[in-house]
Amino acid sequence: MQLDHVRMECLQIPFKQSFSHAAASRQTTETVIVKAVSQNGLAAYGEGCPRYYVTGETIASALQFFDKIKQKLSTIHNLHDLKQWVNTHAMEIDQNAAAWCAIELALLDLLAKESHQSVEALLDLPELCGCFQYSAVLGTGNMAAYTQQLQRYLHRGFTDFKVKVCGDFAQDQDKIALLRDHAKPLSVRLDANNLWNDAEQASTYIKNLNFPFRAIEEPLTVNDYAGCRKIHDALQIPIILDESFLGHAQFDYLIEDPQTWIINLRISKMGGLFRSLAIAKTAKELSIPLIIGAQVGETSILTRAALTVANACRDQIVAQEGAFGTYLLERDITGQALMFGREGKLDASGFYGKAGFAFDYQKL
Ligand SMILES: [Mg+2]
Repeated sequence: MQLDHVRMECLQIPFKQSFSHAAASRQTTETVIVKAVSQNGLAAYGEGCPRYYVTGETIASALQFFDKIKQKLSTIHNLHDLKQWVNTHAMEIDQNAAAWCAIELALLDLLAKESHQSVEALLDLPELCGCFQYSAVLGTGNMAAYTQQLQRYLHRGFTDFKVKVCGDFAQDQDKIALLRDHAKPLSVRLDANNLWNDAEQASTYIKNLNFPFRAIEEPLTVNDYAGCRKIHDALQIPIILDESFLGHAQFDYLIEDPQTWIINLRISKMGGLFRSLAIAKTAKELSIPLIIGAQVGETSILTRAALTVANACRDQIVAQEGAFGTYLLERDITGQALMFGREGKLDASGFYGKAGFAFDYQKL
């Protein structure tokens, strides 16, 4: 493959409704899109979501990183070159994970299209097939908005939820009561988005919510593994690491008690597919389950890339998040939005064996 040109742009698409949690609130996408064009005239796309409170990146830092490395990308001609690039630029990618994710996805899409195969086949992974099961995610909106959102999900047949707590106990208690009162038992994970800085305070708060939560995501300040262990011991519930798991090196903190943890693997946060697949492999060796997560406001490009990982490690996954498509965005940039349907199911069989990530980008 000979690269003709590559560019990165910031993309802003308004949300149909704002989405908030303890760390941020947003009303539009905040994403970078990379377009890579080969000398054969094929075009391919990748996406990354720089989030200052997750990877320390911003849109500006992503564009700056891209400007710095774009000339060097023309030395990538095949999968081996791309892998090599990831290995030899590890430190730069650590600092620019979401920006690199956008670049890597575009190059994988292009390499696959050039060789008339799917990204899965290019990476020697099983072709996408069958259905994927997504969780509902309830944000920290006010009670009226929450109730409406919950009703909509229940009406669609969802039974698996992630609920964001806001730290106002009376309000959180009322929200959890609505889940408890539902006729059918619901599977619920709690996401605190680093709300507390004291393990005992967090444990007491969660215990007082009096609900059999399946797991607790990011209860404490980022990287407080010792505090999370205390919560796990007190509540006997696995701890989901999201902001506290950004890369392979952090397995060092999890090795001694792998049964305590679940990793929220988001492709953009991890810095692309190679790194995500490597994390999934080590997680399997350590028997640490995975949630394949998403950034709020990501487009179908990242949803599609996450399916590559989800499909390759189905037996490790306890939940999948994202695939909101045009439920949340005013429009998607792919010809057809990739999003969940009834009961949170997404049928991916239409992608089977199609070249690249198999989107129709005529609208771009
Ligand atoms: Mg999270």
